[in-house]
Amino acid sequence: QMKQRLLVVANRLPVSAVRRGEDSWSLEISAGGLVSALLGVRDVDAKWIGWAGVNVPDEVGQKALTKALAEKRCIPVFLDEEIVHQYYNGYCNNILWPLFHYLGLPQEDRLATTRSFQSQFDAYKRANQMFADVVNQHYEEGDVVWCHDYHLMFLPRCLKDYDSRMKVELLRSVLAADLVGFHTYDYARHFVSACTRILGLEGTPEGVEDQGKLTRVAAFPIGIDSDRFKRALELPAVKEHINELTHRFAGRKVMLGVDRLDMIKGIPQKILAFEKFLEENPIWRDKVVLLQIAVPTRTDVPEYQKLTSQVHEIVGRINGRFGTLTAVPIHHLDRSLDFHALCALYAVTDVALVTSLRDGMNLVSYEFVACQGAKKGVLILSEFAGAAQSLGAGALLVNPWNITEVANSIAHALNMPADEREKRHRHNYAHVTTHTAQDWAETFVSELNDTVVEAQLRT
Ligand code: UDP
Repeated sequence: QMKQRLLVVANRLPVSAVRRGEDSWSLEISAGGLVSALLGVRDVDAKWIGWAGVNVPDEVGQKALTKALAEKRCIPVFLDEEIVHQYYNGYCNNILWPLFHYLGLPQEDRLATTRSFQSQFDAYKRANQMFADVVNQHYEEGDVVWCHDYHLMFLPRCLKDYDSRMKVELLRSVLAADLVGFHTYDYARHFVSACTRILGLEGTPEGVEDQGKLTRVAAFPIGIDSDRFKRALELPAVKEHINELTHRFAGRKVMLGVDRLDMIKGIPQKILAFEKFLEENPIWRDKVVLLQIAVPTRTDVPEYQKLTSQVHEIVGRINGRFGTLTAVPIHHLDRSLDFHALCALYAVTDVALVTSLRDGMNLVSYEFVACQGAKKGVLILSEFAGAAQSLGAGALLVNPWNITEVANSIAHALNMPADEREKRHRHNYAHVTTHTAQDWAETFVSELNDTVVEAQLRT
């Protein structure tokens, strides 16, 4: 059970820092009321965010102090002397403190006071934003943020605004384009509705309108250079490789997955569905093999590292369960292949399995189809891949979350009669060879030109 993470934000950290050298600090815990109160809260993983009470103008000092504080579970907000003077001594303690204790505002020369109030108020706002920036750097989904005291009254809004301000900025800057293209209508539609909801702009069938300026939004599904694949299959080296593979897997049907090792690809779901298929169809156990090419990607990101070990664990378990001395059901490859090796694999495959939980388009499904002129194998394709919009008629569409459905589709694909396979293949092949990457690029560029010309005519 994970402990609840808590970010406690207060003006002062519960430590006093004294500088001992250029990069050395000594810290002393100062147990104020808030510290003792939080010591009593169990089952939370608390971190403190606040000002360390010292001015640290140099980077070396800031780095060293940040490191020392980390051991005490503290994260510093660095405020310079001027802002401390205006925000802390000024607005917090000269204005808010007496005001909140019914003592009224300090009696000073009125004109001077108004002017200094204004700049103190500005500094207060700025300081709150600096706290918010540090919170945002450390915030992780699921964290609770607890803001304390009269020093930080702007902080809740700074934190809540952060999200929406980011959304607004991102959308506005995309809208500066003349034409925005997506691979599918769904994505185009969602973009338009995000602009209407978040920016309050008008969505039209053409795109998004802002004060007479139209940003065209449309779908431009990408394709592949199918000729390149067909040509590759004619090369002697590739033909030889195809022979080798055919030989190696003689007597077994070949199922293929080719994905970056990414959460969106639904690789664990795919392998679990294959397991269920083997479980329910004992006669297929020594007659089918799943080749999964999992290309490493974003390997420095912890979530991707987790996925890698998760996949390895499942593959190991299933191979242990259904493997024999001479054969295992899953061949899992944790690396990329060169173009020719990939073409050969596509060509010898009986059933390709694309189980993306979400995918803009998924070119692997197109490439498989382009290489299946001879074999006319079956494509099992996630309904959540953009390619499902174009290859839906020929492929077996599945919901990758539904392991039972995918397992049944594997059985359906492996048992499919030749005439049905051919008919389905013909559909897909016609699409893939006529909606190429070249057409896609030409269409986009000419639409972009038209859009600009039309806009000029309107003004
Ligand atoms: N690919 C590759 N080497 C490999 C495996 C895949 O070059 O070992 C290529 C594959 O041919 C395809 C691309 O990687 O063109 C994957 O594109 P896709 O749209 O399927 O998914 P993405 O990785 O863009 O999410």
